[in-house]
Amino acid sequence: MQFSQITRNLKTSFILTLIAGSWAITKAEQPTYRLPGQHQQQHGDLMASRSNSNIKVDNTTHFLESLFNEEEEPEYDIYTEGWNSKHVNCYNAADVPARAKIDVSRFSMPHPGYLTSPYGYRKRFKRMHKGVDIKVQVGDTIRAAFDGRVRITNYEARGYGYYVVLRHTNDLETVYGHLSKFLVKDDQYVKAGDPIALGGNTGRSTGSHLHFETRYMGYAINPCAIFDFANQTTHTDYYTFTKETYQDARNFSAEANERYAAEYRKANPNVRTPGKSSATSSSPAKYYTIKKGDTLARIATKNHTTVKKLCALNGISSSKKLKPGTRLKVK
Ligand SMILES: [Zn+2]
Repeated sequence: MQFSQITRNLKTSFILTLIAGSWAITKAEQPTYRLPGQHQQQHGDLMASRSNSNIKVDNTTHFLESLFNEEEEPEYDIYTEGWNSKHVNCYNAADVPARAKIDVSRFSMPHPGYLTSPYGYRKRFKRMHKGVDIKVQVGDTIRAAFDGRVRITNYEARGYGYYVVLRHTNDLETVYGHLSKFLVKDDQYVKAGDPIALGGNTGRSTGSHLHFETRYMGYAINPCAIFDFANQTTHTDYYTFTKETYQDARNFSAEANERYAAEYRKANPNVRTPGKSSATSSSPAKYYTIKKGDTLARIATKNHTTVKKLCALNGISSSKKLKPGTRLKVK
């Protein structure tokens, strides 16, 4: 972080910027982390049409804040807190090159839904939103964004809910949160476009959506820097990671997203829109602490809901063994 701040401060100084730039290039040429036994199978059939876009760096976060439904997001960063022995963080910020060219040409959109919340700092919750939220329905198929391998399948009640982390052959990692069901196992190899999970509303989430992150060695890149969600493609075949610009969106316009959202809703009439228009999806989530002897049926009755709804909300089956003291989402 310090480096980016220093360079920002010195932006006016041409000579120093040049020095920083040449240092960055040398660092980028150093080998970066690769998958063990990385698979190189080609499959070009998944590529959507690519737009010949001009790259425009735009800090749209502030502008967009008023346009999107803000939702409180995971309290924990899976790369620091809540990490366990099974999921070792192998990234050390000091080892991250200042610049890296990443091949994103063989991709799949994780889901065709429109964006309901952007990447960036959320004033209301005094917290960074390290990904984007994509409208999905409970049970929608979520797909791997790139070729890679499943690093984590886990559950975090107060954060991501059921989530998957993939490590990709292009050195990116992607995170998929609030899922209702896993379709992959840890260490499994996946190709771009392979179904990895079903969308849901688990964890800290009100209204079904997919929380989607793109990361490079732990740095959460704005997914709108890589993906053009309104056109369901990647902006360019290569994304250049730099410590200065990884939070910036590229070619992203709220109007284009709204146009795409309207198209998507028309094609998917059952999709409920979160936020302003819908009282149910914008109301805060409610939790119930399980007591000894509780059954799903009893909890459903107590909370004026149904077992089916409870199962969908929490991504559990009706035969799930209930643990007293743990919390269930009831709304
Ligand atoms: Zn999110």
